[in-house]
Amino acid sequence: MIASLDTRTAPFERLGKDYLRFLQALKTRGFEGEIAPDYANRTVLATDNSIYQRLPQAAVYPKHAEDLERLTRLAAQTTHRGIVLTPRGGGTGTNGQSLTDGIVVDVSRHMNQILEIDVEARRVRVQAGVVKDQLNAALKPHGLFFRPGAVDVQPSHHWRHDRNRCQRPGQL
Ligand SMILES: Cc1cc2nc3c(=O)[nH]c(=O)nc-3n(C[C@H](O)[C@H](O)[C@H](O)COP(=O)(O)OP(=O)(O)OC[C@H]3O[C@@H](n4cnc5c(N)ncnc54)[C@H](O)[C@@H]3O)c2cc1C
Repeated sequence: MIASLDTRTAPFERLGKDYLRFLQALKTRGFEGEIAPDYANRTVLATDNSIYQRLPQAAVYPKHAEDLERLTRLAAQTTHRGIVLTPRGGGTGTNGQSLTDGIVVDVSRHMNQILEIDVEARRVRVQAGVVKDQLNAALKPHGLFFRPGAVDVQPSHHWRHDRNRCQRPGQL
């Protein structure tokens, strides 16, 4: 059966106590991004580019790598062992991989900086939320580009998700 939201009951679904505890602890640990347990954020992230739907307990939007560290260190504690963290980029995966009934860790909002371009070594360091058009715009003045994707080499294809939606981890 295809997983889908029950719109009659979903708005009233409460956060699990363990998740509430985790989110409160995250706040006190100095998490600097947004913590969003509200129904609006949860609904938006309950779908992706697949046919499936799954209502997460909450969404979090890390500001930087330190926030990711705070999340994973906390989740590794025995008291939070049941907590599920699911990273999300552009949500263009076609099999529902970014959907979860745990916590969506959305890196697309803040973690989209190009950190370093080393022209000689042909190497770039980017945050997880960088998309290909952005990367190629920064590489162009150096006469470099990131490899074409499947969608780029099919001119009749009108989707452009590979260039301006899906993010580095999704492309590697
Ligand atoms: C039209 C179309 C054509 C496609 N063509 C191809 C193709 O030719 N070749 C191909 O390989 N794929 C193809 N795909 C699928 C493609 O792999 C995904 O769309 C894309 O790579 C996912 O990137 P995303 O940023 O949207 O990730 P999401 O959909 O947000 O997430 C995908 C998975 O990656 C995980 N993830 C996301 N961000 C992170 C992170 N920062 N750290 C760790 N894990 C993370 C998520 O938890 C999830 O499991 C195609 C998809 C579409 C819609």
